[in-house]
Amino acid sequence: MLVTTASVVIIVIVAVSFWHSTNPGEADKLNVVATFYPLAYFAEEIGGEYVSVLQLIPHNTEVHSWQPSISGIVAVDEADIVIYNGADLDNWFETDILPSINQGNKIIVDSTEGVELLEADGLLDPHTWISPYVAKQQAQRIHLALIQKDPEHKQYYDQRWQDLKAKFEQLDNDYVTGLSNVQKDVIFVTHAAFGYLAARYGFEQHGVIGLSADEQPGASVIADLVDMMLNHTTYVVYVDPVYSDEYAQALKYTLDSKTGQSAQILNLYFMLGPVEDMDYFEQQESNLNNLKLGLEA
Ligand SMILES: [Zn+2]
Repeated sequence: MLVTTASVVIIVIVAVSFWHSTNPGEADKLNVVATFYPLAYFAEEIGGEYVSVLQLIPHNTEVHSWQPSISGIVAVDEADIVIYNGADLDNWFETDILPSINQGNKIIVDSTEGVELLEADGLLDPHTWISPYVAKQQAQRIHLALIQKDPEHKQYYDQRWQDLKAKFEQLDNDYVTGLSNVQKDVIFVTHAAFGYLAARYGFEQHGVIGLSADEQPGASVIADLVDMMLNHTTYVVYVDPVYSDEYAQALKYTLDSKTGQSAQILNLYFMLGPVEDMDYFEQQESNLNNLKLGLEA
């Protein structure tokens, strides 16, 4: 939905007065709004008891085609700190939200500012958070925003940032060692979201669907995939089970019959929300284990 800036501003003002009258909020906490799960998770990990974090895109929702609601715009208008991914993941934040809010007193964090971004098919690859190495840089920007906005609790935020940073570095290290000695160098994924992992840890990804995660591949795409799998003698396909297990099973059935091999369908999470009680880091560990299987580490 695209509405004119003027009408949004009026609606926001009306809605904000309503918000004030119904939501006293947590006055002693920083109000942080993040566009999606990984950023909200990092903000909570660093901010702890001094932040109240609102996540605009619900858990495990397709992010590329998402559009904000009026209540989302109101929440952003009310926030002390607003965090978005950047790298063209959440464009709507810059085009639809930023122009209609009062930016005066808030810190707006483009979490990928300063990050070395990759391109895929002439576009920016927006899937930065999937690499622990890049995600660490995004989380660091959140840490800086917290200590700038709330210097009184700097020591607390610094300590929690150090702990989080250590987790990212351990994970990065685990990926480097875990994938240093592999037999294969290609992975087949339904959605090409693993470019930053592939670039850092030395393998290649072939996306079956492309950029948007909720499309279904056509017959010619499947035929190409079958050719590539035969060429690479690799019969593993990665899916994020959040999207469609039915689709994965249909894909396996087709690949089995066309390659004459038993294809393996393994999970690689996009980390767009907790899955089966696994948080961001637990999904990262699961991804690493499955990559070791598929790449034959
Ligand atoms: Zn994606």
